[in-house]
Amino acid sequence: MENEKKILVARSSLPEFEEYVEMIRPLWDSVWLTNMGENHEKLTEELVKYLQVPYVSLFTNGHLALELCIQAMGLTGEVITTPFTFVSTTQAIVRSGLTPVFADIDPKTYTIDPDRIEALITEKTSAIIPVHVYGNVCDVEKIDAIAKKHGLKVIYDAAHAFGVTYKGKGIGSFGDASMFSFHATKVFHTIEGGAVTTASKELVSDLYKRRDFGIKDEEVVDVIGPNAKMNEFQAVMGLCNLKHLQEELRKREIAVNRYRERLRNTKGLIISETQKDVSPNYAYFPLVVDENKFGHTRDEIKDLLAEHEIYARKYFYPLTNKMDCYQGRFKNADVPVAAWTADRVLTLPMSASLTVSDVDRICDLILSLNGSKS
Ligand SMILES: *Cc1c(COP(=O)(O)O)cnc(C)c1O
Repeated sequence: MENEKKILVARSSLPEFEEYVEMIRPLWDSVWLTNMGENHEKLTEELVKYLQVPYVSLFTNGHLALELCIQAMGLTGEVITTPFTFVSTTQAIVRSGLTPVFADIDPKTYTIDPDRIEALITEKTSAIIPVHVYGNVCDVEKIDAIAKKHGLKVIYDAAHAFGVTYKGKGIGSFGDASMFSFHATKVFHTIEGGAVTTASKELVSDLYKRRDFGIKDEEVVDVIGPNAKMNEFQAVMGLCNLKHLQEELRKREIAVNRYRERLRNTKGLIISETQKDVSPNYAYFPLVVDENKFGHTRDEIKDLLAEHEIYARKYFYPLTNKMDCYQGRFKNADVPVAAWTADRVLTLPMSASLTVSDVDRICDLILSLNGSKS
């Protein structure tokens, strides 16, 4: 055990130190450190191309990008969403004064089940906020059709889906808007950071001032907003990381393929395969453990890995509707598939620095539990 290296669930990608330093050096001449500086504008342009979307609006983090997008759209009343997500999605809804209404998820993709949405629509519903969980693409066609039929807005939480395409289109081009997170643990990062993508020019110009205290010009402040601007050091990190992203994705792909190869044929271990028409980003490797078939629980696997300094996460457990801060506030959600999954899911370590031999070590430990060889 002395020779074993510690493996965390995620590990940030960093450019070479010198590369970053060279790129921030001009800031000492310009002394323009934030407020839509040169690098901010350059990153915005590059992301429009990379994400294949009409407009990108950058933020200091993904959470505020989502909150301000909700507020810019003037949503009211109820929002249909998924409880199988990072708490940020639900917090953004509740902090904007709206009521989350939780729909169940699809057992294969873990994204919101579109066939469960319509029954939850009331006269108070103003929007649907689905999540491309683990980078799996939601059923965007059905969701967008339901929204159109009922006059609802759609904001996708695409925090996990950077660079994913569906039928050759950037994932941020579906719905009315999408939010991306550029947090250090995500596939692409700006240390902290985030973006809204949209085809609406009005939304982008509203977000431009909304993330800057609502300031329209020197004398006019016409919307209520916090400070959520991305600074130049963040933007430079993004420009650096973007240069190396293809390489990083290739490394992730190798690790994911190895996991799949090793775990695919074991009874009771449920893994996701790449979806049809999707070009994936290999952001996460969720494993769902059916203890009745595997003979051991999710928690037993987590504990065994931890004994070897390998840290997997129960991601997402608990469901957001079960979190302490929401107790007694909303109607009980009928979400059996999400509940079953949350009790059995374990997100295995995944990053561009994870090697095939790391993956093998993790899989050997998991498979040793039921005596499988592979
Ligand atoms: C990371 C994440 C967010 C929040 O993004 P930050 O950039 O950390 O604020 C929101 N939703 C999901 C699903 C996430 O994983």
